Amino acid sequence: MDAEFFRRWLTATARAVEREAGRLTELDSAIGDADHGANLRRGFQAVTEALAARDPQEPDTPGAVLTLAGRTLVSKVGGASGPLYGTLLRRTGKALGDAPEVSDAELRAALEEGVRAVGVLGKSEAGDKTMLDALFPAVAALAESYPAAGDAAARGAEATIPLRARRGRASYLGERSVGHEDPGAASSALLFATLAEVAG
Ligand code: ADP
Ligand code: MG
Ligand code: MG
Repeated sequence: MDAEFFRRWLTATARAVEREAGRLTELDSAIGDADHGANLRRGFQAVTEALAARDPQEPDTPGAVLTLAGRTLVSKVGGASGPLYGTLLRRTGKALGDAPEVSDAELRAALEEGVRAVGVLGKSEAGDKTMLDALFPAVAALAESYPAAGDAAARGAEATIPLRARRGRASYLGERSVGHEDPGAASSALLFATLAEVAG
């Protein structure tokens, strides 16, 4: 997979976010502050623009594409999800180094690092009802295939419904967070659905 593959992944994600922004915001209105769709829409719109305007002097590598996307999310998204998704992409990009092409196994190892970094930044772990509940199973299922990872992320997001939130805004609701899907887990499922799409 080369830099172009990663640009396709991110622009496909921007389109998916655009399409699903209403649903993401609806999920966030149940247990948060009703801005998750708008946050990601603004962030991934800026990612698409940043990728299109890339400096031709910069190396055109998978690592550089992901790092630029991550930096853009951190700077454009005010909510918790900006730094968290930004860290995911930046750390994954950094782990890929400056290779012009990366293998499936290299991407999986890099994403593992990226997802771990999200947990460190968010002081969160599996079962806290966050994006990690989609990201962890997705990365684990990457060992099998990209479609398996997409499915695992979707199942992980759905499995947040009965959980009680222990991190982020939803945690302020305590027991009342039960019965709703976590918005960040839902958007993480989109990220892995589009990865399966572009890899397919
Ligand atoms: P905000 O909560 O600041 O409005 P968003 O609505 O954009 O930001 O994103 C909320 C999502 O961010 C949550 O649904 C959850 O998945 C994720 N999140 C929030 N806090 C954490 C955390 N500490 N660790 C992991 N994910 C988190
Ligand atoms: Mg929110
Ligand atoms: Mg907010």
